Amino acid sequence: MIDNDILFNIKEKAIADKVPIIMDDTLKKIREILEPLKPIKILEIGTAVGYSAICFSCFLAENGKIDTIERDEQKVKEANNNINLMGLKNTINVLYGDATEILPTLNDKYDVVFIDAAKGRYPFFLEQALRLINDNGIILADNILYKGYVLSDYNKHKQRTAVRNLREYISKVSNNPNLETEILDIGDGLAISKYKRGI
Ligand code: SAH
Ligand code: MG
Repeated sequence: MIDNDILFNIKEKAIADKVPIIMDDTLKKIREILEPLKPIKILEIGTAVGYSAICFSCFLAENGKIDTIERDEQKVKEANNNINLMGLKNTINVLYGDATEILPTLNDKYDVVFIDAAKGRYPFFLEQALRLINDNGIILADNILYKGYVLSDYNKHKQRTAVRNLREYISKVSNNPNLETEILDIGDGLAISKYKRGI
């Protein structure tokens, strides 16, 4: 793991600004999965200030790359600034725009797709991830248990759409014969789906 003052400051500032960066437990689990895999290409949906992408960069194979999508202009600026400070501008490419519009335009294949943006769009993000994932790739979805709402009988007020769509995501990954899925109760919930064509 990168352990330096610049990354420490990026993390502290994100926490102070209430940016929902990846939780330590979740990052530790992803590290266990990705370090041995040495992905060549990672796609992230939801950059925020670049914290998770910067952390994932050290799991990449040599010359590996990360594409990451963010729709908030201020966040894109801060992410690019952080990526430059870390000396990673040739490794992490921030795509500015709404992922629902950008994803259908992508044609590269990825070894890992990390979904960490609008919860109401997780089923759509999954559909796109399945189109873009390499055989033996891994699709990860953060915040899949959303404060415990998803597996409870929660059915109230304004988070209802998010909860319904997260449940739909779980149902889709669980029923897809090409995916082997685990839902882990760490951090805010992490779905890990291994993709194997034609299992
Ligand atoms: N992955 C980051 C945290 C991402 S927070 C980390 O762990 O460090 C979620 C981000 O997704 C927010 O910055 C939000 O602006 C962005 N987002 C939400 N919906 C989006 C969409 N449809 N397209 C692109 N970005 C989106
Ligand atoms: Mg998250």
